[in-house]
Amino acid sequence: MTYRAPLREMQFVLYEVLNGDTVLPELPGCEDATREIMDAMLTEGAKLAENVLAPLNTSGDREGCHYDTETKAVKTPEGFPDAYRQFAEAGWTALAGPVEYGGQGLPHTLNTLAEEMVCSANLSLGMYPGLTHGAVNALTSYGSDELKEKYLPKLISGEWSGTMCLTEPQCGTDLGLIRTKAEPQADGSYSITGNKIWITGGEHDLVDNIVHLVLAKLPDAPGGSKGISLFLVPKFLDDGSRNPAFCGGLEHKMGIKASATCVMNFEDAKGWLIGEPHKGLQAM
Ligand SMILES: Cc1cc2nc3c(=O)[nH]c(=O)nc-3n(C[C@H](O)[C@H](O)[C@H](O)COP(=O)(O)OP(=O)(O)OC[C@H]3O[C@@H](n4cnc5c(N)ncnc54)[C@H](O)[C@@H]3O)c2cc1C
Repeated sequence: MTYRAPLREMQFVLYEVLNGDTVLPELPGCEDATREIMDAMLTEGAKLAENVLAPLNTSGDREGCHYDTETKAVKTPEGFPDAYRQFAEAGWTALAGPVEYGGQGLPHTLNTLAEEMVCSANLSLGMYPGLTHGAVNALTSYGSDELKEKYLPKLISGEWSGTMCLTEPQCGTDLGLIRTKAEPQADGSYSITGNKIWITGGEHDLVDNIVHLVLAKLPDAPGGSKGISLFLVPKFLDDGSRNPAFCGGLEHKMGIKASATCVMNFEDAKGWLIGEPHKGLQAM
């Protein structure tokens, strides 16, 4: 299968429909988003999508991800770690990230076009940075300064990745039924215990650390969806020790098999509250 990025159509929408070359450079912090720069970035993005990501799409889906029952580790298909490294090193994970945490601060409109190319060329691979992007947005909007300083730079650089852990065996759409618990600890952290299913990028070998954003209930939580809080639970803690947030297996899917969709077990894992108690669904 070959992929050719529809550059002319993208330029038509960006410049002729949206007037992006006049509107975007006027946005605060987006002075660099000139037509010259945006064209250069789209051309480079197209090369990466066509020459690095697309050639791994079919082979990645055939091979799929592999789970090791002893180590609880997940291996992505041949070529994925190297392709992801090229993607992150070229700055694509940082494109729309806030400048104060190492991002390029370019417009989300441009990032949307980059995501379109990545996901069209290789959706499985695109889901890893896609989930990270979501975690960066949630943390930027709701995280404390301390959490932002500790986690945003490496999420934005692509050295670490993010997840969103909502779904549980007894609930998907109706998250008011979640059972994952968060017990406050003396040091201000929380002990997180529960099972999540269908977690995209819950465990894999593309990055050094995985930052899980987990919905859980505090002991005094009101019932239903009003009683849900959001916690940051890293795979590895500051001192390098392993947080007990382990993958229990891979979900079986009909496609996007190179995207690791994981069962995740949190067994007294250490976490930190993001935003206000009981307002987690909003932040997620
Ligand atoms: C590839 C893949 C990746 C995923 N990645 C993640 C992830 O990263 N993190 C995560 O937390 N989850 C993830 N999920 C899970 C996904 O978010 C859930 O599947 C989704 O929330 C729906 O939940 P469910 O499957 O339990 O379906 P259900 O909740 O059982 O819903 C089934 C159908 O019933 C309808 N329905 C449900 N309740 C009602 C109601 N009260 N009234 C009317 N209609 C209703 C729904 O709209 C739907 O059409 C992933 C799923 C897939 C397939």
